[in-house]
Amino acid sequence: MNETLRTRDCDKVLLVQAEFDGELDAAEAATLAAHRQHCPACQAAAAALQRARLLMDGGLYEPAPDDVRRRVMARLAAAQPPAPAPLWALRSRMRAWWSAGIGFGLGAACAAALALLIIAPSGPDPTQELVASHIRALQPGHLEDVVSTDRHTVKPWFDGRLDFAPPVKDLKNEGFPLKGGRLDYVDGRPVAALVYQRDKHIIDLYIWPGVLVGGRLPPTAEYHGYNIVHWRWGGMTFWAVSDVEPAQLSDFAQAWQRAL
Ligand SMILES: [Zn+2]
Repeated sequence: MNETLRTRDCDKVLLVQAEFDGELDAAEAATLAAHRQHCPACQAAAAALQRARLLMDGGLYEPAPDDVRRRVMARLAAAQPPAPAPLWALRSRMRAWWSAGIGFGLGAACAAALALLIIAPSGPDPTQELVASHIRALQPGHLEDVVSTDRHTVKPWFDGRLDFAPPVKDLKNEGFPLKGGRLDYVDGRPVAALVYQRDKHIIDLYIWPGVLVGGRLPPTAEYHGYNIVHWRWGGMTFWAVSDVEPAQLSDFAQAWQRAL
């Protein structure tokens, strides 16, 4: 029981971890699956992760004793900026440890890291924050800062308002016409929100650079009657939020990824 993810055996091993966390899109996952058929290192990594998950799901880990918890939290507080690290940030750090080649197995190091996860203060759940933002935007006058069905109007509107250029696509032919866009704030940073319509329903598409969320966040979620679909593309992270049916929101996500 001492498997490790060893990047020196195959540089795709980290993708195995990403796939395990649901962070690959369909094309990336298919490419990885084809590669893994012929790669013992990636097969071993996938098997080790699967075993680890089974152990974790089986209740292997127990809460840390109070004094250990206090000491770890004090050390974390000393080593970090004052804001409490959200759970996903600690998970990202775990992944950074993997990628640094430390490659711990299921020994003491792993148990210690998981203890950190268990006692970490739970951070804001991005799905809840996104749904709250979506509901706020539905109030009269809050939906769009720029009202236009023309992506060549909406896209340049973001110039100078964000430090990245969000891709803007019109999906009128797919039944999701573009309505406009606005600036929004998620997880303390300005993000682009594109507004689409499906019949009488509004779909907000939030976009920002990077892969913010680690862990095992599912690509789809539901919160208080709103549906959420999450994907990554071109170095950006995308969140579609709406009260349309889950199947329709998936259609939207797929149409968006297909569209040029
Ligand atoms: Zn491989």
